[in-house]
Amino acid sequence: MANTDCIFCKIIDKEIPSSVIAESGDVLVIKDRAPKAPVHYLIIPKKHIKDIASLDADSANLAAKALLMAGQVAQGLPGSKDFRLLVNNGPSVGQTVFHLHFHFLAGATMVCE
Ligand code: 5GP
Ligand code: ZN
Repeated sequence: MANTDCIFCKIIDKEIPSSVIAESGDVLVIKDRAPKAPVHYLIIPKKHIKDIASLDADSANLAAKALLMAGQVAQGLPGSKDFRLLVNNGPSVGQTVFHLHFHFLAGATMVCE
């Protein structure tokens, strides 16, 4: 069920445009509008789940589908297929959109910060 106040639900419903990289029945991959790396995608389970800590036994498979999507998207990278996944859980560590998403970062050497 889409959350009417959620920007990612609006992107998933195509009410707000985005650059779509890949899409399945359960997961959408878009370009981040403010990239922090040469390649910066957002892997978004379509179901509105607030954050990773809100997953339960019924919804955890959606996170697994997002991870599988990361491996598939990596095959389409030009050059190196290496990537980093990052999840912010909660505002104090930087979460700003409260619809679960994985940052897919590639194309640069990144230290663990
Ligand atoms: P968070 O800070 O919640 O982990 O990540 C949210 C990400 O969503 C940020 O990197 C931000 O640039 C991105 N973002 C926010 N609004 C939009 C939007 O309307 N379109 C796209 N493509 N990215 C967005
Ligand atoms: Zn949402």
